Amino acid sequence: MVSVAQEAPGALEAVRELLNSWLIPNDTRQPDDRFDAWAAAHAVPPADHAGVRWLRDELRSAVEGKADPDAVVTAWIERTGVRPRVSGGSLRFRHDGGTAGDLLVAVVTAVGDGTWRRLKTCPDCRWAFYDHTRNASKRWCLMSAGGPDGRSCGSIAKVRAYRARQASAPGIGSSDAG
Ligand SMILES: [Zn+2]
Repeated sequence: MVSVAQEAPGALEAVRELLNSWLIPNDTRQPDDRFDAWAAAHAVPPADHAGVRWLRDELRSAVEGKADPDAVVTAWIERTGVRPRVSGGSLRFRHDGGTAGDLLVAVVTAVGDGTWRRLKTCPDCRWAFYDHTRNASKRWCLMSAGGPDGRSCGSIAKVRAYRARQASAPGIGSSDAG
């Protein structure tokens, strides 16, 4: 059986779910913002909605490489007042940021334990997934479709690349030797 595990460890999974409250469904291929459903499912107080949606959009830009991840997380640390303390020999965090602060603590913790860089988005369908590979080399969401929500962006990309190579292959007599 092929593993299609994409869940992030610990509290980082809540961040991944938040990122995927904006998605491009397989069937329609039209961007769909399901933030309200996500917020309802996670009992997010209405007063926190705007801030959490803003956090989602900025974290998504960071994970997608459209914004500097360090700058985005640092700005949100300041915005939510996240500060560390030591309790029972362990690092804990306080904040003044409500739900966004809770989510940011999960991000800060993930930065600290090295899991943050493994949260990625597929360059094709933009689905957020956690890279469980040994050397963090995974690029596409799933290399093969694995269930009702399975995508096959990696396979599709390979076919595209193959076709592009075929299309651009020089004809007989037109290529340089060697
Ligand atoms: Zn994909």
